[in-house]
Amino acid sequence: MITLSFAKLAKITGGELITVGDDSATCLDALTINDLVIDSRAITVNTDKVTAFLALKGANFDGHRFAQQVIEQGCQLLIVDHQLHDITGTAQLIVSDTRIALGHIAAFVKKELAPKTVGITGSSGKTTVKEMVAAILSRLGKVLATNGNFNNDIGVPLTLLRLDSSHDFAVIEMGANHLGEIAYTTALAKPDVAIINNIAAAHLEGFGDLCGVARAKGEIFSALGEQGVAIYNQDTLHTDKWQWRLTDKKVRTFSCASTADCYSENVTLDDNGCASFTLQSAQGHCDITLTIPGRHNVANAVAAACIALEFGASLKDIKLGLAQMQPVKGRLNLYQLTELQSGCRIKLIDDSYNANLESAKAATQLLANYSGKKLFILGDMGELGSEARSYHQEVGEFAKQLQVNTLLSLGVLSQSASDAFIKDNPNNEQSQHFKQNPDLMTHLFKLLKQHFCASQQDIAILVKGSRSAHMEHVVLAIIQWV
Ligand code: ATP
Ligand code: MG
Repeated sequence: MITLSFAKLAKITGGELITVGDDSATCLDALTINDLVIDSRAITVNTDKVTAFLALKGANFDGHRFAQQVIEQGCQLLIVDHQLHDITGTAQLIVSDTRIALGHIAAFVKKELAPKTVGITGSSGKTTVKEMVAAILSRLGKVLATNGNFNNDIGVPLTLLRLDSSHDFAVIEMGANHLGEIAYTTALAKPDVAIINNIAAAHLEGFGDLCGVARAKGEIFSALGEQGVAIYNQDTLHTDKWQWRLTDKKVRTFSCASTADCYSENVTLDDNGCASFTLQSAQGHCDITLTIPGRHNVANAVAAACIALEFGASLKDIKLGLAQMQPVKGRLNLYQLTELQSGCRIKLIDDSYNANLESAKAATQLLANYSGKKLFILGDMGELGSEARSYHQEVGEFAKQLQVNTLLSLGVLSQSASDAFIKDNPNNEQSQHFKQNPDLMTHLFKLLKQHFCASQQDIAILVKGSRSAHMEHVVLAIIQWV
C-alpha cells in the first residue's frame, strides 16, 4: 500500500481526527500509515509497516471491539464510526460509515496510481479468467490481481489498497449477491476494461431471476470512462439487459461463433479433458493449448484473450501466458490416482470450490468425456432461490443424459438430483442419496472396492458442490483412501 498521511485520510473520508490524553495531538496531521487492515489477525508485527485498523460492523461482528487489542499489536490509527472514549494515546479517525470510508480510501489509491485496470464479473469463471488474464499480462508488466475470491464490496477495496507504484496492471474480480454491489465496486476501481463472462443461475436469492442477475452484472459497465471498453460473452443469456449502457462505449464480444470479435475454432480435448483450439481475433489467429481441463475453459480463455488484446498483449503473449497458467484450487483440479490393491486408475476431479447450474453442467460434461466408469458425487448447490429443487433435478437429468454411471448425492436439495438420475435410468449403478458424509463415504468405498476396482476399470470421479457443502472433505477422503 502507498503511504498516506493522517491528514490525507481525513480529507479523503471526510472524517475527524482526534487523540485523547496525548500532548502530541497537534502533530497528528503529519503522521502517516502504509498499511490498512480490517482484521486484527492480519496485523504484521515487527515490520516497518505503520498500520491503521478500520473497524467494520456486520450483522454478527463489530470491529470496534478489537480496538484495544490492535493497539497492543502496534496499530497507530483507528478508523471508527464513533469516538472510543476508553482509548487514550492512539489517534482515531472518526467517519460516518467505516465501510464507505474504506471505499473512499481505495478509490483514492487507485486513482492516484492509475494502473491499467480490468473489472471482471459473470456468474461463473471470474476467478479463472482473472488468473488467465494475470498470467498473460504479467508478460507485459507487473500485475496486481484479486487474491482468491476477494470480490465483494469489502474485498474489492482491500484489493485496490494493495496497489503500489510498481504495478502496471490491476486485474479485479467483481462478484455480487445483491443489486448495486457491482455498481459500487466498479465505481471504486473505475476499470479501463470491464467484462461480463456469462450469466447463469447463481446467487439467485439476491436477484430473483436470471434477468435480475443480468441487470446486476451489467452494472460493471457503469463506471467505464470515455475511452473504456466493454466486453461481453455473445453466447450468454440476456445480453439485452445491459445494451442501454453501451450506446456510447467501445464494445467487444467473444464467443464460440465467428460473429464475435474474439472467438474459438477447432476445439479438441486431450485425454485429461484439456482443450486445444484456434483463437481468432482482429489481430490474427493462433493455436492455444490449455493446462486446465474443461471445455468451458475455452470460453474463459477467449474472454481473457479479448481483455489482454485491449491492453496491447500480442497473440504470442496470450499463447505463452495461458500455457503458464496454474490451476486454481478447487476448480476442476485433476488428480491421477492408482488404487494400490487392484492397480485400478482413478481420475479424481476436485471441483469442490463452488457450484451453480452452469458450472455443474460444465463439470458433468468434462466427466462424461473421460474413459471408463464415471462417478459423480454432488453436494447441495446453495443460494439458488425458489427454483433450487428444479436446478438440482436438471443436473441429475443432465448426468443421466450424458451416461454417467453413478450419482451419489449429499445434503438435502441434491436428493432431487439423485431422484432424477435414478428414475428410468438403465445405466444407473448403485446411485444413492445421503444426508450425512460418513454414510456416503462408506457406500463410496464399498462401491469402488467391490464393484469398480474389482473389475479393474478406469474410473473418473467428479466431486462438486457449493462452498457450504464442504465437498473438499470428500476429495481428501478419496485421496487418503487409495
Ligand atoms: P465465484 O462466484 O465463487 O467467485 P467464479 O465466477 O470466480 O466463482 P471460478 O471460481 O472461476 O468462478 O469457477 C467456479 C466454478 O465454475 C468452477 O467449478 C468452474 O469449474 C466453473 N466454471 C468456470 N468457468 C466456467 C464457465 N465459463 N462456464 C461454466 N462453468 C464454469
Ligand atoms: Mg471467484
